[in-house]
Amino acid sequence: MSRLRRALGGLRVQLLTAHLVVVLVGVVVLLVGIRLATPEFLRQHMAIEQAGAMATTRMAPEMELAVSRAFTAATTDAILVAGVAALAVAFVVSALISERMLVPVRALASASRRIAAGHYAERVPVEQSDEIRDLAHTFNEMAASLEDGERRRRSLIADVAHELRTPVATLEGYAEGLLDGVVPASEETWARLHAEARRLKRLVSDLQEISAVEARQFSLHVTRVDPASISRTAVIRHQSDFAAAALTLAADIPAKVPAIDADPERVLQILANFLSNSLRYTPAGGLVTLAVESEDSIVRFRVTDSGIGISPEHLPHIFERFYRVDTSRSRADGGAGIGLAVAKALAEALGGRISAASAGPGRGSTFTLELPRSGPGGTVARES
Ligand code: ADP
Repeated sequence: MSRLRRALGGLRVQLLTAHLVVVLVGVVVLLVGIRLATPEFLRQHMAIEQAGAMATTRMAPEMELAVSRAFTAATTDAILVAGVAALAVAFVVSALISERMLVPVRALASASRRIAAGHYAERVPVEQSDEIRDLAHTFNEMAASLEDGERRRRSLIADVAHELRTPVATLEGYAEGLLDGVVPASEETWARLHAEARRLKRLVSDLQEISAVEARQFSLHVTRVDPASISRTAVIRHQSDFAAAALTLAADIPAKVPAIDADPERVLQILANFLSNSLRYTPAGGLVTLAVESEDSIVRFRVTDSGIGISPEHLPHIFERFYRVDTSRSRADGGAGIGLAVAKALAEALGGRISAASAGPGRGSTFTLELPRSGPGGTVARES
């Protein structure tokens, strides 16, 4: 802090010195110029003036020299006095200007100190000259991104604590009940304990996955793949689960789909997330369809279900981490609201994007994965 204060003091002294040096250099140049040029100019002007005068009124050469010296001395004195006055005025004006220039710098310094102390909502006014305005603007952007990061960190911790509380409390309740002999050591009790432990395990692995995906700590093995065969694999993998839930899983895959450059396992992971959500949120007897289509440089995978649907106010948020439309229902089913956040990050890593649409509650949902045919970097990958 004292270093900052010294730096600010230094900047003010530098500005002041710069202004004073400019005035001083001006005065010195004036003085030297006058001393060098005045005698000759005065002589020339006197010669012109006296050319028309009568011989009796002409000035003697000694007198002319004396006038020239007196004139130079008087001008020098006047410039010295004016120079001192100019330095004094420059000092005052410079102090005012530097004060004005230092106001935003001080605001930035104090805002950074407050941000460093954890007050992330701190911002500085964006005005002043172009450079300072740019600096203030960039500073505010940095502050906003720090605030966002801090908000995410806090919400992650709060969400994790919230998610852990229920299974841990349930486990604790059962353990206490078993110890006190209130809860019978029956098969049902062990099954419930097992289910809670499984939920915890899934939550931990979900957390590991989302942190790895958000930090981009995963590898992509991009090869030339056939979207049709990937879709068929996804359908085959989920067919038995859908049959067990009395749901129909259909495939709508055209005979010819252009190949794409992508990581097949990651594409399958995204499709598996769409399909397992449809399975979870579609009542028995419903229909889920996985369709593939291509358009220009894009291949689109679409999972449409006849399930519970999503109301418009929830749609923009479902890709956020830990976001669940119906918390109680999802918790009972074991969903922590992480699957779609992971799918979104994976799709972006593959150079694509995912989106969701629904006509509203009870009217089904459609989840779409769009991938560029040219792969994540826009370059065509070689077969490997
Ligand atoms: P979860 O593990 O809770 O399913 P997701 O991130 O996969 O987490 O989904 C987030 C939320 O989006 C879900 O809790 C659910 O409310 C909603 N959702 C996802 N897929 C569907 C779907 N096919 N139909 C209705 N709601 C869905």
